[in-house]
Amino acid sequence: MTSVVNSPVASFLESGSKQLWIDGAWRPAADGAVIESINPSTGEVLCSFAAGGAADVDAAVAAARRAFEGPWSRFTPVQRQNVLLAFADLVDEHADELTHLDVLDMGAPIGRPVSSFTPAEVLRYYAGWATKIHGETISNSVSPDIFTYTRREPVGVVGSIIPWNGPLGSAIFKIAPVLATGCTMVLKPAEDASLSSVRLMELFAELNVPAGVVNLVTGVGSAAGAALVEHPGVDKVAFTGSTAVGQQIVRAAAGNLKRLSLELGGKSPDIVFADADLERAVPGAGMGVFANTGQVCCAGTRIFVERPIYEEFVEGLAHFADSLKVGNSLDAQTQIGPIVSQRQLNRVSGYVTSGLEEGARAVTGGRRIETDGLASGYFLRPAVFADVKDEMRIAREEIFGPVASVMPFDTVEEALARSNATTYGLGGGVWTNDLGRAHRVAHGLRTGVVWVNGYGYFDPAVPFGGHKQSGWGSELSVHSLEEYLNTKAVWVTT
Ligand code: NAP
Ligand code: MG
Repeated sequence: MTSVVNSPVASFLESGSKQLWIDGAWRPAADGAVIESINPSTGEVLCSFAAGGAADVDAAVAAARRAFEGPWSRFTPVQRQNVLLAFADLVDEHADELTHLDVLDMGAPIGRPVSSFTPAEVLRYYAGWATKIHGETISNSVSPDIFTYTRREPVGVVGSIIPWNGPLGSAIFKIAPVLATGCTMVLKPAEDASLSSVRLMELFAELNVPAGVVNLVTGVGSAAGAALVEHPGVDKVAFTGSTAVGQQIVRAAAGNLKRLSLELGGKSPDIVFADADLERAVPGAGMGVFANTGQVCCAGTRIFVERPIYEEFVEGLAHFADSLKVGNSLDAQTQIGPIVSQRQLNRVSGYVTSGLEEGARAVTGGRRIETDGLASGYFLRPAVFADVKDEMRIAREEIFGPVASVMPFDTVEEALARSNATTYGLGGGVWTNDLGRAHRVAHGLRTGVVWVNGYGYFDPAVPFGGHKQSGWGSELSVHSLEEYLNTKAVWVTT
């Protein structure tokens, strides 16, 4: 192995208990409960952290409310901008350490960042917006003596719940628009990957920000998460996770009609036409499904290939999958790390079995790796299934693991109809050298994002979000900001 645990991370792991950050202070869970953090590359316990519950969520929401109505409401846009810039500098200074925590906690390979931008860039992008949130003056026809204008006001206390597959980025995507708009928040990271959020809060604590603006309650979804979603003191929930939990959140939020933004699951199509440049399309579509061990919401898991190149593509993809170096996430050579947990490994393996049982052609992969010192981790060889039928479970359900389903098609209309025949609508890809066809397919896909001749690019300025049952609203960009603002009209009779 070419990399070792870096020393700030080692001291973080060895330092005292990882607690809840509530009202500007660290405290254990009210009932003293903790959760163990597991390194999925080795199955070893890294450390433990607090498992907050309803009482802790109560305290955090109360602190967030006090901050929202108190000192934070008097911060000017420039002051909020400066908070974001100062936080960005701290996050940059500690970038290696923060990344390293995710590497250990959920198995993201150390040499392979999932996104092309850094977390600090997202904070700086939103720092720019803090000073550019404004209403409008409107000419009304009621009376020339009445002046009308709008104000853009923060929605209030936000409950932000994130998944484990990109923990650091997900936390930053939620914190940045909260600070830019003047909201306050309670963050609940996933139990399988909470460490980078704890370290982020330690850094946040160094800033000169009133207590309670950002609070962290680590814990399990059914306790801390559910308490946050049901809490009458929460004005909005910003959730990233599975569609099944998203549906529960919609129901639970009905009590006080919380604003909701939902970034949910997907079963994204990637369409490869016969005129595509296969040198690019094979590895592009391959990483579109296998990157981050397939644990990507917009993974292009249903690969539709035009019939004349179908066999050639299947063979190329299998060869590509076999060439990927699967290994310990700390090894700089590793391209594909472990699956996040034993439970997820079992789930993904269950889908491999179902593909075999339903008669898909297993071209390569899909078996657990128990050699090369990987037996105690949760490693699976990237799997390629060919001749998959649309009605098979592996073609319909989100697997969230390194499993590709490849299917032939004959016409553009057929490819579009089958691509859209899903309850999801997150990502989509098209590979072709015909520009007109690329645009037609991009417009025809009922998804929130489409990549042409490349897959999985992101940028802080570009919205990312799902249509259909893949979500409500957008993450990143000015569109995410909108999710944290209310509009008020003011009529002034002069
Ligand atoms: P998940 O099971 O839905 O969990 C997401 C978060 O919700 C976790 O923090 C979880 O807590 C919490 N939670 C669970 N039950 C809850 C409840 N009843 N009330 C409130 N919170 C609850 O999803 P996951 O397995 O962590 O992540 C994978 C999913 O996220 C996939 O479906 C993926 O597509 C989706 N995702 C979507 C996007 C996007 O931008 N569209 C991005 C990344 C991931 P615990 O895990 O701690 O129990
Ligand atoms: Mg872990």
